[in-house]
Amino acid sequence: MRAARLHGPADLRIDDIEIPTPGPGEVLVRVLAYSPYGTCLGVYLNRGGRYVTEYPIGIGADFSAEIAALGPDVTGFEVGQRVTAQSLDNCGTCANCSAGRTNLCLSPDLGRYVRQICAQDYALVSVRKLCVMPDGVSDEAAAMITGVVDALNAFDKLGLPEGSPVAIVGVGAMGHGAIATARAIGLKPIAIGGRGAKAGMAGELGAERVFRINAHGEDVSPAVLEAFPAGFAGIVETSATEWGMEQAFKVAAPGATIALTGGGALPVTNWDIVNRELHVVGVRGGPDQARALRLIAEGKLDLSPTISARFPLEQAADAFALLTGDAAKDVGRVIIQIAR
Ligand SMILES: [Zn+2]
Repeated sequence: MRAARLHGPADLRIDDIEIPTPGPGEVLVRVLAYSPYGTCLGVYLNRGGRYVTEYPIGIGADFSAEIAALGPDVTGFEVGQRVTAQSLDNCGTCANCSAGRTNLCLSPDLGRYVRQICAQDYALVSVRKLCVMPDGVSDEAAAMITGVVDALNAFDKLGLPEGSPVAIVGVGAMGHGAIATARAIGLKPIAIGGRGAKAGMAGELGAERVFRINAHGEDVSPAVLEAFPAGFAGIVETSATEWGMEQAFKVAAPGATIALTGGGALPVTNWDIVNRELHVVGVRGGPDQARALRLIAEGKLDLSPTISARFPLEQAADAFALLTGDAAKDVGRVIIQIAR
């Protein structure tokens, strides 16, 4: 089968490898579509040398697929069903999993991030994390749900009443997912960031206001606070950059909750947090793929306006070059079409 594999940083090639056989607890899926997400770009470039230790290695995370074969003990699924899965695995039985927090599984073997590989014709997936796609969800839409799953987790933590404004810092794949999700669940998203077409997409997805930056790293918090003098009770930081962290804390109202999805050191002192009684929460993926897919199936959420390009698997290297090149500020999601 064909597999897009990295042979070094930014060196993606199509290799011919064996189709794997599903073991106990696994299914073999035929991948339909794959849409690279922020983490995939980190892996592609091996940013900071912290993603890849050995080459060649496969790539991918966010996909849609159909089941091609079941492992020996697998029940409850059928060949031909359309499915998707997030990267995090879970045991389904520990205290956190039992409480629905499968993204925080306590199992030492399953609770860690395992790189999901899907930029290839077939892939093995643990049945514990499989989610059947409802009718009405396209292959492309299901390949873009990570930002939605993460955002639902973040908004649950913010606990804002319906109709509230919420600040979304960053307008990349995760930011776009958060803006569309906020709209779908009745919040009013205010986007902070972006200087190219991605900022325009934030408006198309339903952002009430978009505070664009004119140059990389520009502080737009004065303009945001002029329009929203009290600041925001809820902020989701999606850029995982120093700039984004600073914007998030600057626009936070006293008592606000700030959801972080990545990034470096906090830009505030302990006293700043105490003095404003800020709640700082981490968002580690999310547990509810099914809810994300339902919102799409119900027509409440559509990320298709953010699709900038489509490539066949053979041109996966071109897709990554586009996403990491000079024009990236104008590029939303890219779909890599693997089957069909
Ligand atoms: Zn568990």
